[in-house]
Amino acid sequence: MTPRPLALSPSRANDYQQCPLKYRLRAIDRIPEPKTEAQVKGTLVHAVLETMHAWPREKRTFPSAVKQIKPAWAQLIDDDPSVTDPIPDEHKLFVDARDLLRGYFHMENPLGFDSHEQEMYVDTVLPNGVPVRGFIDRVDIAPTGEIRVVDYKTGKKPLPRYSAEAQFQMRFYALVYWRLFGTIPHQLRLMYLKVMDSMFLAPSREELEYFERDLGDLWTKIEADGRSGNFRPKTSKLCNWCAFQKLCPAFDGTPPPYPGWPGSTADVSGSAAEPTGGDASADSGVEEPPAGVHPTD
Ligand code: SF4
Repeated sequence: MTPRPLALSPSRANDYQQCPLKYRLRAIDRIPEPKTEAQVKGTLVHAVLETMHAWPREKRTFPSAVKQIKPAWAQLIDDDPSVTDPIPDEHKLFVDARDLLRGYFHMENPLGFDSHEQEMYVDTVLPNGVPVRGFIDRVDIAPTGEIRVVDYKTGKKPLPRYSAEAQFQMRFYALVYWRLFGTIPHQLRLMYLKVMDSMFLAPSREELEYFERDLGDLWTKIEADGRSGNFRPKTSKLCNWCAFQKLCPAFDGTPPPYPGWPGSTADVSGSAAEPTGGDASADSGVEEPPAGVHPTD
């Protein structure tokens, strides 16, 4: 089977920056990891919000959204029965999901506007040759034409000193949107539903051009490691939450044989691009502890 071409997403870029070996095991070896309760909860709430925004305005109320939790959960189980693995208590899941929806309604009134697009899959190659892909939770277009890119977060809002990753994600999607559609989003908004607070960014063209150069540098490093197969482990306190300790030399483990560099969408012409494994959920509410140090995706 032809290896799937690689592309950068905010999650995979973050993986590489945290630990190149973790990036390799996730993106290239594609070793399955157990789902977490927080990931499943995030996916459920994202699914409810996506469904709700497709309803007629008058139906978009908190009680209607809460009623949608159980059907959305049934659909998730239908799609992937393993979502129940990390959920010891369904009732608690529903209560938590309701609280997150309450947070959403506290922050925004969905009766007052229609979203332009939800769960938008973006996949392109930047002018500097970096292949990128991911999912944007929601895009709004104002009657005046201004564009807002929205991402829902179901974990804690990071402290300001740990907000770099969240800002990276926002700039990433602003850049991809600009390169795909020719317009720089007027506003980027991360909505932290649990704490009912937002993070905003209004990127300039210069800022995004600078960010694009940084992404180019990052991709050059990943490609160099990919061709040599030398993805080094980089220990940090995040190792405590890493599912790959048994495969990590820093923990006396042994990685599997390197499967080889599968290339990228930038140099595999005509190949079908697929969503990054796990990124659909990562950009749709995956949360990995500790919040504040490692918000998602
Ligand atoms: S345990 Fe730490 S060093 Fe090893 S792969 Fe995971 S994050 Fe990297």
